Amino acid sequence: MNITATHINYYHICHRKLWLFSNGINMEHTSDTVAEGKLIGETTYPQRPEKYTEIEIGGSKIDFYDAKNKIIHEIKKSDSIEQAHQWQVKYYIWLLQQNGIEGVTGIIEYPKLKQTTKVELSKDDSICLEEIKQNIERIVADEKCPPVINSKICKKCSYYDFCYVNEE
Ligand code: SF4
Repeated sequence: MNITATHINYYHICHRKLWLFSNGINMEHTSDTVAEGKLIGETTYPQRPEKYTEIEIGGSKIDFYDAKNKIIHEIKKSDSIEQAHQWQVKYYIWLLQQNGIEGVTGIIEYPKLKQTTKVELSKDDSICLEEIKQNIERIVADEKCPPVINSKICKKCSYYDFCYVNEE
């Protein structure tokens, strides 16, 4: 299985979401939330072609990489700072490391919050990522879809209708 940053992100959000996405049930294109996130990315960095490179690596896409300063910029439209975002960027750093690019750090920008957070990859994080990858493979290979999590994040999730169709 080719694990991407999206799998790492979903693993931290909801194992059901991870399972659905990985098993080919994909509803992201219908989600206004995703479209809004893309729009925020485009309007926050209109000068992107000059400053940043887009990189495709290991099946993951890094939208904004500052090669000169070795900094990954990730923009999140979310109004909360989430662990999933941190791990997504840590995974990008790990992917670059695996391809011989050392010394990379990340910055996550939250335009709605007017905040940024710095991301680094420690040795412990790398060990943790190996465990996370094994856990992802186990969850995705399971024949049964994990249960709904009944969380407040569900209302913003593109799978909401799919997960709660029988509950209204
Ligand atoms: S709606 Fe909730 S339970 Fe369903 S996939 Fe999304 S986060 Fe998980």
